[in-house]
Amino acid sequence: MKRRSGLRLFFAATGLILLILAAAVYLYGPRQAGPILPPPKVPEALGFTPQVYDLNVSLDPSTGRLSGISRVEYTNNEEVPLPELYFHLYPNAALFSQDVTRPGRLTIQEVKLGESPVPWEARNTQLKVTLPQALAPGEKARLTLTWELVVPDYPGRLGENEGIISLGNWYPILAVHDAAGWHLDPYYDRGDPFYSEVARYTVHLTVPDEYQVAATGNLRSVKDLPGPTKELTWESGLVRDFALALSREYETAYGRVGRVLVQSYFPRTERDGGRRVLQAGRAALDFFSRTFGPYPYDQFTLAATGFYQGGMEYPNLVFLARQFYGREDADILEYIAVHETAHQWWYGVVGNNQVEEAWLDEGLTEFSTLLFYEKERGQTAEGTRSLLGLYEAYRQANGDGAVLRRLDAFPSDLAYNALVYGKGCLLFLKLREEVGEETLLKILRTYYRRYAYRTATSRDFIQVAEEVSGRDLTDFFRRWLEGAEEG
Ligand SMILES: [Zn+2]
Repeated sequence: MKRRSGLRLFFAATGLILLILAAAVYLYGPRQAGPILPPPKVPEALGFTPQVYDLNVSLDPSTGRLSGISRVEYTNNEEVPLPELYFHLYPNAALFSQDVTRPGRLTIQEVKLGESPVPWEARNTQLKVTLPQALAPGEKARLTLTWELVVPDYPGRLGENEGIISLGNWYPILAVHDAAGWHLDPYYDRGDPFYSEVARYTVHLTVPDEYQVAATGNLRSVKDLPGPTKELTWESGLVRDFALALSREYETAYGRVGRVLVQSYFPRTERDGGRRVLQAGRAALDFFSRTFGPYPYDQFTLAATGFYQGGMEYPNLVFLARQFYGREDADILEYIAVHETAHQWWYGVVGNNQVEEAWLDEGLTEFSTLLFYEKERGQTAEGTRSLLGLYEAYRQANGDGAVLRRLDAFPSDLAYNALVYGKGCLLFLKLREEVGEETLLKILRTYYRRYAYRTATSRDFIQVAEEVSGRDLTDFFRRWLEGAEEG
């Protein structure tokens, strides 16, 4: 009760400011799509040719079935010929079939190279496509994949829950081939077990008229189709993935940060939470753009979904758990929104292998969240404090653990959370003590600029830190990344 009356007073006193803000924040009607945006800008002269996806998909929400055709233009950017290409079929992970009435499944029906069918083999979360002859460095392969997805009734990155259909890691996505070869990790039930490279996407989605859709990319057109359906088309800049969230209950609020459109999608019963998310997203996007370097896309969307683990980052789009949209969870919701927004810089623009070096995006993202709260709110977020506390408690109970290891090498989820988020964030706090805040920010800006649209490794980060600070930080990073005394 105290909180409520305090809030009423606050709103009365700031009525004028809210009126001015209202001029920048519009509410869409429930039937309208978001605004049509211009074609996205695609950076050139990267030194490699990004892959190209054209997805044509049609969803029947009443059955959860989605039929898809993907046209994929793969350029061999490696220095070796590739006799095979690999895709991940993440919806076939076991977690999407456990405790559900509609198990998730991604079934490949046909794979063609140009006009000719080619041999392929799908096993669990992996698809191997054998090329008639090895793809030479610099050559392109144009593949067409025909497939069907069953969306599980599951409260995850992929799944239907609480009236919202989340499509995260939902289509056949190219595995990464780098100097170590193909990375074919399964969908570990820990952390964000993904690793992908930037690509350009065009996505056409056919859905019933009453669905509102949040998506990666710029909405380019909305076409009326015969019957009560429509076709939405998006085009993306250079992004590592393409995600969507749909609901019949969605309303949209939007505002701008400079030239960037920021959108909040939320069930119409959660208008207050939806507006708070919009404000948090705008504040965070503005802060991180000023602090690390500009957000290079035209739009950023925050969507309420049935995802049960707080939040999940995708390029241009983050999923936030609908369960936190109530007034009583306002602080948690803001904290999650800020954290997921920071991932647009760390994971989104600057990529890393999240299976092998999760600290590089999670530790840096949590530290970025800490910075936001310090500078914009004058305090550390409760969420960050509890992660730092979790690490301290873990260390006392189990001894210290190494941060830099594969997802499947952590002894438990607790160890993963304490070490990757808690100790990973503390590492950056200690680095700030070591080199000073000004130098640390210069390190982060340099790292962002240099590795934009690329995959950075721990070694790359350390190299930038040493170069910018002019110091030998070998011992510092060895202690923080590899130091361990776990019993
Ligand atoms: Zn995160």
